[in-house]
Order: sequence, then structure tokens, then C-alpha cells
Amino acid sequence: MNDPLMPAAYAVLNTDAVKRNVSVVRRHAPGAKIMAVIKANGYGHGLQRIAEVLADVDAFAVARGDEGIRLRKAGFEQPATVLEGFRNRDELDLFLSYGLDTVVHSFPQLDILESCPETGRLGVWLKVDTGMNRLGFRPADFSHAHQRLRECRVVKGPIRFMTHLANADDKTDVKTLRQIALFNETLAGCPGERSIANSAGILGWKDALTDWVRPGVMLYGISPFPSQTGSQIGLQPVMGLYSQLIAVKPAYPGETVGYSGTWRCPEPTRLGVIAIGYGDGYPRYARNGTPVLVNGRRVPLIGRVSMDMITVDLASQPDAKPGDPVTLWNDELPVEEIAQCADTIPYTLVCGITQRVQIIEREFEPATCES
Ligand SMILES: *Cc1c(COP(=O)(O)O)cnc(C)c1O
Repeated sequence: MNDPLMPAAYAVLNTDAVKRNVSVVRRHAPGAKIMAVIKANGYGHGLQRIAEVLADVDAFAVARGDEGIRLRKAGFEQPATVLEGFRNRDELDLFLSYGLDTVVHSFPQLDILESCPETGRLGVWLKVDTGMNRLGFRPADFSHAHQRLRECRVVKGPIRFMTHLANADDKTDVKTLRQIALFNETLAGCPGERSIANSAGILGWKDALTDWVRPGVMLYGISPFPSQTGSQIGLQPVMGLYSQLIAVKPAYPGETVGYSGTWRCPEPTRLGVIAIGYGDGYPRYARNGTPVLVNGRRVPLIGRVSMDMITVDLASQPDAKPGDPVTLWNDELPVEEIAQCADTIPYTLVCGITQRVQIIEREFEPATCES
């Protein structure tokens, strides 16, 4: 980038890809309604930006009330469900005034609903805990909770039902089938719409497809499965993370690179210093050897990731020079691969992009070399 005011580190978001990924959801779950999950600032891609691109989904889901309020203040009027639900009476009042739907997952929430004198104002999803052991009523408590919820005057419209899969990213784990069966048994005979599947459920488990699906990570072109990349399963990555070389210098045998000297130079080489670090959201635990693209070609990360910089071994690129373009991840260097090199999941990488990273919206990726 030639603009001197342009930050060295920037992310390019391919908003077109989000739409294409929605069509992948529709292909896998024909006829299902889509609740697009845009919590955590749209998985780091920007809540408002992603909500705009997703204008034609049936509903949004966010994790917290404040995220729902941000959506409303930005002018989005679509149905929006708060997955963690309200925490107290005051927050319930905010849900009512902003027209947010809630998940109801606990008896204390029922107590609050019963004390609410309003009539017919709150859309609800009753959540059953089928084995995630996070939020939701245990199957044994379901009938009682359902009965109480039905008698709450504040509830609007038919009660809907949901559960969440714990192991759906492992296509061989029968726990998913047990969770689905338990959900269906628990709800047997109850009229009302149902929702089970997150991205892994949508892509990997036909039995999880019901009235509503709740895609999150796949909308951003990222695979929920550890052994596959988004591109390999027909998704298109949305985020590319880029920077540039700011220094190139020799290193000699025995010298170490970076904090704690975790990489020791075996033979004369050239080091490249790149302006990106954990202060931008590049993972601190990326190992020696993690791939980085310099001028579109792979080179290995060496030494510790620091706050503002990383170092690579430029042995394979004798002509590399300051200003040359660097890719940390994009459709050519899958974020899934970087996540594996950092012992994490790609979700954490895209969510972790910090304020310092300038976001550029494009319909298509730029060429990787732009000298
Ligand atoms: C985050 C979340 C989702 C979306 O999960 P992905 O794996 O990103 O598709 C769906 N449902 C619930 C309850 C969630 O918390």
C-alpha cells in the first residue's frame, strides 16, 4: 500500500463471499429458516457490516443484550435473538424496548418473566440442555419449565425450542446423534419450531436440520471441522489479513531471534521483520515454521511473536525488501492452517483482530502483489 497514512496491518473483507456462504447454508439446509449468528462483532468482521450484507436472512442471533441493542441502534429491524438471554429484570425491560427475542434457559429467568406485567411482547426460544452442559433446562425439567413459560403473559407468539450440539465438529462422534434424539424425545408432541444446528450441524449432520439453522463460523468462510478448510468444503473465506516487510537483515549461525531466543540460526540467512503481532490479533502461540506469505510465497515464521512484529526466514527470497507485501491469512493461506500452527481454532483468530487493524471492505480480494 502506498498511502503513508495507511496502517501497515490491515484486513480485507470480501463481503460478497458472505452472501455466497449463505447460499451454501441454503444448499445444505433447503427450506430451513436461517438465524445468522453475528455475535462477537460478527466474529471479528464487524457487526454492522455483516448485518448489512445479510439483510435477507430470516433472523440474527447475538450472544448478549448489548450486541442486540447495537444492532437496533444501527437501524436493523429484523428479528434478533439474544442467545444468552436476559440476566435480570432491567435487562428484560431493555429486550422489550428494543424488540429483542430471548433464549430462556433457567428457572431464575422464569421467575423474572412471571413477575413481568407486560402482555405479549417478548419472542422466546426455550432451550434444552441435551449434553453441552452449558445453558438450557435439563430434559427432566423441560415439561415444568415449558408449562411455566406458557403461562407467562409477557411471552409473544408461539414458543420455539432449541438445543446446542457439543461435538458436531467430529463427524464420527455419536454424541451428536444422542443429543438430537434426546431433543426430539424431550419435545415429543410439543408444537412449535425447533432449532439444533450450528455450522458443524448444518454441514455434517442431516438429522440436525430442522425448522431453523444457526450458522456462525461458516458464514465467514471458515470450516467448523478441524481437518478441513473452508475452501475444501465449498465456502469462501471472507477475511484476509495483510501487512508488509519493514526490515530485512542478515543473521549468522548461533544468533537467536526475538524474545527468549526460541529460534537459533543454523546457517547464514536473511531475516524479514513484518509489522504485525499479537497487538493486532496475530496469535502469540504461532510456532516456529508457521507459514507466512511474502510476495505471495511461503516462508516460515521464526522466533516469538511479539506485540507489533513477527520475524520470518527469507532464505528462499534473496530479493525480498522492505515494503514487500505480506499475507498472514486469506484464501491462499487458510486461517484454519494458521490456527493449527498456534494450537487454537480459527474462530479465535478472526474474533481476535484488534482495533489497530484497519478494515477494508472489498467485493473481491486484491492481487497479493501490489508493488
Ligand atoms: C455461536 C453459536 C452458534 C454458531 O456456531 P458456529 O459453530 O459458529 O456455527 C450457534 N448456536 C449457538 C447457541 C451459539 O452459541
